[in-house]
Amino acid sequence: MKNKLLVISGPSGVGKGTLVKALKARRADVVESISCTTRSPRTGETHGKEYFFLTKEEFLRRIEENDFLEYDEHFGNYYGTPKSFVRQMLQEKSVILEIDVVGALNAKKAIPESVLIMIAPPSVDELKRRLIGRGTETHEAIENRLSRLEYELSQQDKYDYVVINDELERALGELERILDAD
Ligand code: ADP
Ligand code: 5GP
Repeated sequence: MKNKLLVISGPSGVGKGTLVKALKARRADVVESISCTTRSPRTGETHGKEYFFLTKEEFLRRIEENDFLEYDEHFGNYYGTPKSFVRQMLQEKSVILEIDVVGALNAKKAIPESVLIMIAPPSVDELKRRLIGRGTETHEAIENRLSRLEYELSQQDKYDYVVINDELERALGELERILDAD
C-alpha cells in the first residue's frame, strides 16, 4: 500500500501527542516528522526528538532557503515542517505531521494527497481538564491556547476526517482505519 502523509491537527491538550505516540508504538510502518521551532524546550524535551530547536536567525535563514513544506508563527514562536526530511521519510513509511490548522491547509496545498485529520475533544470542559492536568503551561498560556479553540474547531469541514478523542483506544482504532483505507 502507498505510504500516506497524515496531517493531524486539533486544539492544544486534546491528546494529539498521546494518540500519535500510541499509534507509533503499535505501527512500525508509521513515523512522525520532527518540526523545527524557535520556542524553548519544555522539561524533558530534547533537540531532534520532539523538535529541532532553532534560534530565530537559523529559522529565518531556512525560510529564505525554501527549506519548509509550511511554517507558521504561534504564541510568538516559529514552527515549520522540514521539506527534505518529510520527502525522505515518505520513501519508506507513512509520515505523520502534527501541525495547526493553517499549517495543515498549507501542507495540503504543497502535497494534495495529504490526509487531513482533526482531533476534537469530547467537550470543552474535558479539554480544559486535560490541558490543566498536563501541567506544562502557565495559566496565561492555557488561556492563550483555549482562545484559539473556537477557530480551530470551526475549520473541521476543511478536513478529510474528524476523530473525537473520547476513549483513547477507540480514537486510536479510528486512526488505524484511516491509515489502512485505500
Ligand atoms: P496535545 O498533544 O494535543 O496538546 P496531549 O497528548 O499532551 O495533548 O494530551 C493532553 C493531556 O490529556 C495529557 O495529560 C494526556 O495524558 C491526556 N489525554 C490524552 N488523551 C486522553 C483521553 N482519550 N482521555 C483522557 N485523557 C487524555
Ligand atoms: P507546542 O508549543 O504545544 O508544541 O505547539 C504549539 C502549536 O504549534 C501547536 O498547535 C502545534 O500543532 C503547532 N506546530 C507544531 N509543529 C508545527 C509545524 O511544523 N508547523 C506548524 N504550522 N505548526 C506546528
